[in-house]
Amino acid sequence: HADAAMYHAKSAGRANFHFYQSAMTSTAVENLKLENDLRQALDNNELVVYFQPKFDSEQEIVGAEALIRWMHPELGMVSPAKFIPIAEQSLLIIDIGRWVFEQCCDLINELSDKNLTIVPIAVNLSAVEFNRDDLISHLLGILDKTQTNPNYIELELTESVALTNKDICIQRMTALRESGMSLAMDDFGTGFSSLSYLQELPLNTLKIDQQFVRNIELGESSQAIVKAVMALAKGLSMSVVAEGVETPEQFNFLAENGCDFYQGYLLSKPIPKVDFMAKLEAKK
Ligand code: C2E
Ligand code: MG
Ligand code: MG
Ligand code: MG
Repeated sequence: HADAAMYHAKSAGRANFHFYQSAMTSTAVENLKLENDLRQALDNNELVVYFQPKFDSEQEIVGAEALIRWMHPELGMVSPAKFIPIAEQSLLIIDIGRWVFEQCCDLINELSDKNLTIVPIAVNLSAVEFNRDDLISHLLGILDKTQTNPNYIELELTESVALTNKDICIQRMTALRESGMSLAMDDFGTGFSSLSYLQELPLNTLKIDQQFVRNIELGESSQAIVKAVMALAKGLSMSVVAEGVETPEQFNFLAENGCDFYQGYLLSKPIPKVDFMAKLEAKK
């Protein structure tokens, strides 16, 4: 009996080991396939930019964030949470990021051509893009080529951009601001940048991460964090955007505490460009 029990334990262990190993391999294979497919995605017109409106406390549209979507021919919609890290690692993010930026410039010009209200459009920049020496010349090149007013562009950065070289980071942000674009810190509260560092950065806006907004109804501690971020932003003369607002209770709590701008499924999901333009048309 003892031998039999030992045999079972061993074979179960071995089976688990094989299962584990093949699971790891299949993720690596899957990512490699995604990377290969992503290489063609731009040329095959599989990438699309959606726009999620941002609102003020009167629930008027005051801007939008560009969010990329990948319509994979076999897999359907692939989430950016899945493919952006692959794009960053393979540096495909450079071409993809420029393409997204161009789409935003095109939208702004289309709004202007159609005499619609022009609202600022926010573009996410990953740390890989931000940390390239040619970042500014490329962005300015696209603005110039498309004749776009940089005042309508906002760049969303995450705390990770500030982790490598502080001086270069501040210099680059300052140059971006001098070119007329504005800067927002995305997912604020999830990274670990120090407050003394934060006050040196030329930011216009803090975006409170959705995890704090989501937990507003759950208790005092998230409420305290949300209030603290808003007080911090006020003290540093920055505006505050709350991300991931899903319920009227969250909206009301934020509004009562002086939040400037709101983004989330309660007000609008990310939508295709034509739908976003229709909303601005209705607003006219
Ligand atoms: P992010 O910049 O923090 O964007 C906000 C994310 O929250 C988006 O997810 C948006 O669809 C989602 N969201 C908005 N409102 C709600 C809500 O009420 N509830 C919930 N549960 N989610 C909400 P998405 O579009 O999947 O994008 C995920 C992340 O991928 C973005 O986070 C951003 O970091 C990155 N990303 C997306 N597009 C681009 C891009 O063009 N370039 C770069 N570098 N990164 C991008
Ligand atoms: Mg963002
Ligand atoms: Mg965010
Ligand atoms: Mg995020």
